[in-house]
Amino acid sequence: MLTHSPGLDNQHNTHNMIVNFKCGSCNHVYNFEIGTPVLDKSFKLAFEINPVCPGCGARDKELLTEMGQSILTMWQMGEI
Ligand SMILES: [Zn+2]
Repeated sequence: MLTHSPGLDNQHNTHNMIVNFKCGSCNHVYNFEIGTPVLDKSFKLAFEINPVCPGCGARDKELLTEMGQSILTMWQMGEI
């Protein structure tokens, strides 16, 4: 699944990350274990496991909360 990153100098830890999301459909706020985040070819952040809202089951509706954003920023800076 993560075979498309040969050029990436990945110094990050590869532990499973739990990120805080808010559902864009039902506004439910939840934590989701997204596995290891990766940067795709266009340096867009992608998740190993795509979040699914536990409230309504929506996919691809997730919004990062401030808490979710800050943990991903820390990850991108190599702090975690
Ligand atoms: Zn939802």
